Amino acid sequence: MSRAKYLTGDKEGIEEFLARFDTFLFDCDGVLWSGDHMFPGTKETLEMLRAKDKRLVFVTNNSTKSRADYKKKFDKMGIPSDVEEVFGSAYSAAIYVSRILKLPSPKNKVYVLGEAGIETELDSENVPHIGGTDPSLRRDITQADFDGLADGSLLDPDVGVVLSGLDFHVNYLKLAHAFTYLRKGAVFLATNTDSTLPMSHTLFLGAGAIGSPLVTAYGKDPVALGKPSQAMMDAIEGKFKLDRNRTCMVGDRLNTDIQFGIEGGLGGTLLVLTGVTQKEEIMGEDKVVVPSVYVDKLGDLLG
Ligand code: PLP
Ligand code: CA
Repeated sequence: MSRAKYLTGDKEGIEEFLARFDTFLFDCDGVLWSGDHMFPGTKETLEMLRAKDKRLVFVTNNSTKSRADYKKKFDKMGIPSDVEEVFGSAYSAAIYVSRILKLPSPKNKVYVLGEAGIETELDSENVPHIGGTDPSLRRDITQADFDGLADGSLLDPDVGVVLSGLDFHVNYLKLAHAFTYLRKGAVFLATNTDSTLPMSHTLFLGAGAIGSPLVTAYGKDPVALGKPSQAMMDAIEGKFKLDRNRTCMVGDRLNTDIQFGIEGGLGGTLLVLTGVTQKEEIMGEDKVVVPSVYVDKLGDLLG
């Protein structure tokens, strides 16, 4: 038994549950699709919710893509969407730097360990940045690099933040830059700290694993701006004027999505079993993070 109610096949239970909410926050990967494979019923379920006048927000921890990239992905999948409905961890981090940290310019420059999605979102908030996809950093470290980092000649004096996300080209040189900026007092942020990255029906290293050498060397955790961070929830609340009681988080991962919804005091959380979390993880009275309800797949909400 689980404290979560199983709604697959329970038409009345589904109707009752959906009626409790005006807004649904949707995790993307593992809920709507897996990689480029859309789950059956995804499109129809989103249509059904829109027909009931529900507001949809797509909340993803994937920092490698910008909101505009996600809009393109929705288009490719044939799912109607608006770029303003997308809220990713890269955007969340960019907002945090520009609107919460508010470091005085030019000391607000960000050293990025990550991909283009982060750079695009920092650009959208007019936050200056270096590192990231800079091709000159995709090489082995040399003695001249060690010397230049040590004497500061290779450092940009305006860097006030290190932002760590998933970087598919991570190497010692990039980590050495990030670590040196941290030691010089830069604020340590992460887009998200997912330990793993679900891909091709198995798990690979997530953004948390990529940033963990910095955590080990520096001895401090970053402020994380993706799910389950409540900084992200606060930013979403501010942008969409959420009534938390009438908002439901839909996700496939307990320690990001469902925890995000529970800690945010949302009216409900819905777990789908098409992603990372397996049914056994919510069975038993002893489980701590448990969704309000669960279904085998999103399309089951069609009844
Ligand atoms: N991070 C990366 C780089 C990803 O590619 C993905 C999924 O595609 C995620 C995180 C998890 O994204 P979501 O929060 O939509 O499940
Ligand atoms: Ca997911």
